[in-house]
Amino acid sequence: MPEQLAINGGTPVRATKLYYGRQWITDEDVKAVAETMTGDLITCGPKVTAAEQKLCAYTGAKHAVVVSNGTAALHAACAAAGIKAGDEVITTPLTFMASANCALYVGAKPVFADINEKTYNIDPASIEACITKRTKAVIPVDYTGQACDYDAIRALCDKHHLILIEDAAHAIGTSYKDKKVGTVADMTCFSFHPVKTVTAGEGGAITTDDDELYHKLALFRGHGIERDPANMEETPEGIWVYEQQMLGYNYRMTDFQAALLMSQMERLDAFGARRKEIVKRYNEAFKDMEELVLQEEIAESDTTRHLYVIQLNLEKLTCTRAEFFNAMSAENVQCQVHYIPVYLSPYYQSLGYQRGLCPKAERLYERIMSIPLYPMMTDDDVTDVITAVKKLVAAYRK
Ligand SMILES: *Cc1c(COP(=O)(O)O)cnc(C)c1O
Repeated sequence: MPEQLAINGGTPVRATKLYYGRQWITDEDVKAVAETMTGDLITCGPKVTAAEQKLCAYTGAKHAVVVSNGTAALHAACAAAGIKAGDEVITTPLTFMASANCALYVGAKPVFADINEKTYNIDPASIEACITKRTKAVIPVDYTGQACDYDAIRALCDKHHLILIEDAAHAIGTSYKDKKVGTVADMTCFSFHPVKTVTAGEGGAITTDDDELYHKLALFRGHGIERDPANMEETPEGIWVYEQQMLGYNYRMTDFQAALLMSQMERLDAFGARRKEIVKRYNEAFKDMEELVLQEEIAESDTTRHLYVIQLNLEKLTCTRAEFFNAMSAENVQCQVHYIPVYLSPYYQSLGYQRGLCPKAERLYERIMSIPLYPMMTDDDVTDVITAVKKLVAAYRK
């Protein structure tokens, strides 16, 4: 007899809720933020510059521009790439909407390529099938932190003269073929939202090796205003002179956020190592269960995993994904689903995107959930998650 599930009145696997992700803030983080608060500049000051240098040192990229959030990073990258009305941008539907919204922000059309059903990342063959004369850029997403097939994607971009913008919101710390994410694409966008691997509260960044793109990104973050006389079109009358050279936004990050980011980055490798340990335990616990399908790991990606996704093999289970998800909640293991395919949202439907566009992404969406993965989890927490998954599988096994 399988154990009574909590959702049916049994005892939950644990007494307190575990969430799928959360930040880890230490006394050092608090101190770093507090010190900045009493400095001369609390925005656009030395911590922002230092955080950019730290991102360059960590990733190996030539330039970094820190911005207010990951969505702003994607918007800035699309603007710097010169993407505009009439252009098309290819991305994956299995992502947070920001990866596609950024194309809409600059007037372009997001085009959705389907995923590889094993790795869940965008499928290069599907990208190729989506390329038209209007295509300007590809925005692959390193889903769960695993790098996409960048050799194939780069070859397509070179062949068709497309800009490669990597949405690495999940992937700081990951390497593709020994190159750190941040140096693989033309521009790489990061997010420092609290559930991501390192946080600034809110924050984002773009890295690039290209001097011209860097200059545009920096202008775009600050209203398009140039303050360096060397880059001005007219000889300045005096030191107060500034020139607005393009339409930009206020996408600045504060110095106290940058201080938090730098303090967090001190522990990025430790966070990554702990995430890897947890992933290893989950992989070992679940690998022989035919009721579950695990995300395939590619050898080219040394992955700092942001999310751990289990796929239900619904043919072997008597429950639906919703039932499994709700039963996990009742066991006090709060999962999340990443993601509802972007174009299924009412807004994208109103733009004319239709169900059936990316059948592999739609099929996967019906079967997945992300189980808790964050470095502050204890070994006992990890054991509880494994126990809950096994308890449910035993109860719902056909
Ligand atoms: C979190 C996230 C973003 C957006 O980042 P914000 O900092 O929340 O604006 C973009 N793309 C993906 C894949 C994300 O997970």
